[in-house]
Amino acid sequence: MMYVIIEYEQNLRQPNLMKVVKTIKLRLYTEPETELQFQDMAERYARACNFVSDFVFSNGFPFSVNSLHKGLYQEIRLRFGLKAQLSQSTLKTVTARYKTIREQLRQHPYRYQDEKGKWQYIQKTLNWLYKPVVFRRPQTDLVRNRDYSFVEKGQRISINTLGKRVKLRYSIPEYYRQFFDGSWSFGTAKLVSLKGIWYLHISAKKTVATTFDKNRPAHVVGVDRGLRFVVTTYDKTGECCFAKGKDILEKRSTFLQVRAELQSKGTKSAKRKLKSISGRENRWMADVNHRLSKALVNKYGPNTLFVLEDLTGVSFDEGNLSSRTKGQRNEVRSWAFYQLEQFLKYKAESSGSAVIMVASDYTSQRCPKCGRIHKENRHRKTHEYICDSCGYCSNDDRVGAMNIHELGTMYVSGKRKPRFVKRKTG
Ligand SMILES: [Zn+2]
Repeated sequence: MMYVIIEYEQNLRQPNLMKVVKTIKLRLYTEPETELQFQDMAERYARACNFVSDFVFSNGFPFSVNSLHKGLYQEIRLRFGLKAQLSQSTLKTVTARYKTIREQLRQHPYRYQDEKGKWQYIQKTLNWLYKPVVFRRPQTDLVRNRDYSFVEKGQRISINTLGKRVKLRYSIPEYYRQFFDGSWSFGTAKLVSLKGIWYLHISAKKTVATTFDKNRPAHVVGVDRGLRFVVTTYDKTGECCFAKGKDILEKRSTFLQVRAELQSKGTKSAKRKLKSISGRENRWMADVNHRLSKALVNKYGPNTLFVLEDLTGVSFDEGNLSSRTKGQRNEVRSWAFYQLEQFLKYKAESSGSAVIMVASDYTSQRCPKCGRIHKENRHRKTHEYICDSCGYCSNDDRVGAMNIHELGTMYVSGKRKPRFVKRKTG
């Protein structure tokens, strides 16, 4: 499966430098003897990770690799027969996994209706986990130049196994060749086996300068991610552009239903089918979001500030895809939106633009002309916004994008966390 993991990180001390991280996948050509060694190492490594995971889970999630090292290192070496570097790496692998899960939990708060029927949200923490994370798949994390290195002028990869060092031929899929131009630095690699073939997934890093000037962006674009349209944008020239989202939601909902049916069957062939459908579905959604984010970035050019709402913990109960349950609809939207956000961030920043997240309070209730906040001004059925104070009237998605744009201009003029506040009226 061709799947590029994109992470991005802004360097706060030097705001014009940006770190880009990618995962490069190489295929290794192995002899049966090497495969056995890899398998043995990967199984021991996974078992050691589970041992560390149990410890982390039952001790209140300590994340300091140093203190974990003091308590566990010797035991890992003895129990699982791992060498020094690999024993150390299990600690990093486990803590990194728990940190990722912590972030995922933060993104999906627990939601319930209180006695007044109002939705309440509770931020989830790692304490919500009811069992330790399990490392099922045999894998090994290899540190560059210690556990693996490129040798013979890059013709071979040398990998340290539990017994001896092996030198292997490898191939680079076409797409990943660009990362071998010398501008990327390689870090830790994961040794994994898929359907009997061994791969090395190497993380590659590069620091790129962005030309983005936060005080003087060429465009400030408010991006509203709504139900009927995936995206509505608004910039100071008043331009609006729509991307139809209904087909997308319906297609993804169909996928969800098929998935639910297969899951309830539980047979072996259903499971196989489920796997292939999930893969197809993810590739399709990723493709839609890639095209959408690319279109947005191309439309506005460099030095654009894209402004998005922070939708963490926001429900979308205005749904009208009534054949699905509310939970399913929310799952569909939140994942699609989150992915679009990630893709847009990455593409914007690689082309000298930036994305900021702003508070979503009242962005659909506020009149963009006179500033009045009044819930009833928004008519969900007709998708209109009609201001009861100044008479301004427009499409409700457009109003959302205009308000988000307004928050973006507040940010440019120096407000660090712009948000709308409702004034108390007597
Ligand atoms: Zn108004």
